[in-house]
Amino acid sequence: MTSRTKGTPPKLSKSRYLSGLQCHLKLWYECYNRELAGSVDAATQAIFDTGHEVGVLATKRHSGGLLIEADHFHHEEAVEKTEVAMADVNLPAIFEASFLHGGVRSRADILVRVRGGKWDLIEVKSALDVKDVNVDDLALQHWVLKGDGLEIRRAGILTLNRDYVFDGVEYDVDELFVFHDLTDTVPDMAEDVAKNVKAMHEMLARSRPPRIEPGDQCAAPYDCPFYDHCTKGMTFPEHPFEELPKLHANKREALRALGVETIDEVPDSFKLTALQQRVCACIRSGSEYVSSRCADVLEEPEYPIHHLDFETCMMALPRYKGTRPYQTIPFQWSNHIETKSGKLKHDAYLCREDKDPRTEFVETLLASVGTKGAICIYTTYEIRIIRELAKALPKYAKRLLALKDRCWDLCAVVRKHYYDPEFHGSFSLKRVLPVLVPSMSYDRLTVQDGQEAARAYVDGLSTKEAKRRQEIHRALLEYCGQDTLAMVRLRKALRDRCV
Ligand code: SF4
Repeated sequence: MTSRTKGTPPKLSKSRYLSGLQCHLKLWYECYNRELAGSVDAATQAIFDTGHEVGVLATKRHSGGLLIEADHFHHEEAVEKTEVAMADVNLPAIFEASFLHGGVRSRADILVRVRGGKWDLIEVKSALDVKDVNVDDLALQHWVLKGDGLEIRRAGILTLNRDYVFDGVEYDVDELFVFHDLTDTVPDMAEDVAKNVKAMHEMLARSRPPRIEPGDQCAAPYDCPFYDHCTKGMTFPEHPFEELPKLHANKREALRALGVETIDEVPDSFKLTALQQRVCACIRSGSEYVSSRCADVLEEPEYPIHHLDFETCMMALPRYKGTRPYQTIPFQWSNHIETKSGKLKHDAYLCREDKDPRTEFVETLLASVGTKGAICIYTTYEIRIIRELAKALPKYAKRLLALKDRCWDLCAVVRKHYYDPEFHGSFSLKRVLPVLVPSMSYDRLTVQDGQEAARAYVDGLSTKEAKRRQEIHRALLEYCGQDTLAMVRLRKALRDRCV
């Protein structure tokens, strides 16, 4: 257990307040024991970077605005600069305007001067929708600014506009964003904000951290960086009831209320779906489940069997003409083709240039899958992408849509006809493969999942170093190729389990 040294408790900030709403212990650690946090992973860093880029673009909607340049170590200096900027009536807007009220430091993304000495408060988010946590964030800022004596005319959140289509030349910042007006919402939250701030300050003034056990709050709304520390030395049941697939929140609560922790302890009378019952039975017996129809179903796909996987990315800011914020852009496919005699051929495509890859993706894909044989996929994600491509590229629509009828979803087959307790309730390829094909692992690969593949691809687009780009492309080809080879091996492993 940590404790703090005596002295004035630290001030709150937007991010600390949101941490405190998630968990008081998280806030305590952020203020006094930051060294206990895990390192920032690449995914989180990418979100920060995108947020910064989008934030800068949003300021272009208010030309002539002034950025208050001072890092968070110099907040008092930023407050002074803000006061000077606010007094200058020629400044139409202030970016990162800084305030201090009630022991809370706040920086407003955009503060727009409007008539009558009033201001519009705008928070920028690099997302398409407003989340509850964003509203909490805005409510705190509104409370600080009002408390500091500002008159707020409007308060709201600016997100990216999912309907905006990039012309390929320059962002139209008036169209790229959409404003969500929360002027009527946030003032009503002021009382709660004041209570929360008071409770957080009181907690931080104590000499010892609050006693809080890890629970649902550790992952919502954000994964807590102190999770490893909080759970150090704890033992978890091998099969907690939470691994029952698609367990509704109501049922989760009901099981908790019954004091159930493990799948073994779920009462026989508790209503579960057929799949959940199967998972329970496997765990209780410690054995696998193979349906009586599994062998027949595995014989359904027609040869040659194409094992197909796509990699896609979603960029907050559209990069190519005709695309929208966060539009899914497929940039790579892999196809392992198995003939009836067991011969295997591998085709692959990866866009290696910074261009809209979709036309080339489709043309090469259609050539590889031809018109014969089943197309084995793992989940129906590829079908969704095929549909989107058919819509975006009508010239290829007929041939693309014809592929859907040939698709055969191996994940659905596993879900319906096979279970092993080691799946721990998940049917993802990354979970199923090491159980059924232990010789194949993703551990040795540089790129280990689809999100990493997307990040690596986007990194590769901006890197100037040819060698680095080559390394990224090699890693991507290896990863996507592994996904489709995995399906070949998985089909065989399942067939072997049926005999
Ligand atoms: S891991 Fe959970 S309990 Fe621990 S600080 Fe984070 S949110 Fe709180």
